[in-house]
Amino acid sequence: MLLTTIVGSLPKPSWLAAPRTLWAPWRLSGVALEEGKRDAVLVALREQETAGIDIVTDGEQSRQHFVHGFLEHVEGVDFARRVTIGIRADRYKAEVPTVTGPLRRLRSAHAADVAFARAHTTRKLKFTIPGPMTIADTLADEHYRDRRRLALEFARLINEEARELAALGLDVLQLDEPAFNVYLDDVATWGIDALHRAIEGVTCTTAVHICYGYGIQANIDWKATLGGEWRQYEQTFPLLARSRIAQVSLECANSRVPLELLALLEGKDVLVGAVDVASDRIESPDEVAATIRRALAFVPPERLYPCTNCGMVPLTREVARGKLRALAAGAAVVRREVAR
Ligand code: ZN
Repeated sequence: MLLTTIVGSLPKPSWLAAPRTLWAPWRLSGVALEEGKRDAVLVALREQETAGIDIVTDGEQSRQHFVHGFLEHVEGVDFARRVTIGIRADRYKAEVPTVTGPLRRLRSAHAADVAFARAHTTRKLKFTIPGPMTIADTLADEHYRDRRRLALEFARLINEEARELAALGLDVLQLDEPAFNVYLDDVATWGIDALHRAIEGVTCTTAVHICYGYGIQANIDWKATLGGEWRQYEQTFPLLARSRIAQVSLECANSRVPLELLALLEGKDVLVGAVDVASDRIESPDEVAATIRRALAFVPPERLYPCTNCGMVPLTREVARGKLRALAAGAAVVRREVAR
């Protein structure tokens, strides 16, 4: 009950990549880079275990960015043709590769990562891959020229990958769909359909993560335009409640999301963001506990998983470690109360 987990990413060690940077360039190359990534995964697993996190991840130490790590292994995506486009409804600019031909998965992007992480922890293991809508939104497309079709093609590739990863002993496979908070109408018309294609026949527990993003300036500015209450989830949660996705990861800490919206996810496991990733201030265990208690009014304890709001990759390692400890300690406080 109240098992803790994180959304996915942790900061990378400074010997592996530049700290506090999204899309940070690697500081190693060749064999040294491969070795460095694996060492960083060991550290990430150990830090979660030491902090008391129940369902751990590889900290996404092996990928430069949560979307492009998957695309590097897909034929039809040309990284030599990078262009700068506005993504997430033009909220910010990103340099993205271009789809220039039919998509085909050349090889597994992450099987070796999952096998390595699985071999090095006895805890439950979660792994994250980008969802189809978010991938389609983080690319230039000169081939399909139709976002829905592009996303459904990616859903097919994700499904191949997901089945392979689940078979390696994953407990949870999470699809990251921050784009679900941006294109609300598309979620209804084809977003859920794309998710279903992505998870079809996948043998482990499936999750989707939907958030308001990292604490970068473009996101802070965007959130300022969303009003006193953030009700984006109100449209998507009823659709997810009827979907075949088992778990939904969302943000609650320091957020203007009205928590009564969690009741719309009845029947699902809810990964409640009880740690804010947009601030360097480390929450106290009592603050984490307070967020969990508020969510418990709408989610039964056996379905509530205290979690982070989003990935922690832009934070310093010291801050991320503190937040992991606070998350585990806060959950432990509430677990004792509920067990009484
Ligand atoms: Zn997120």
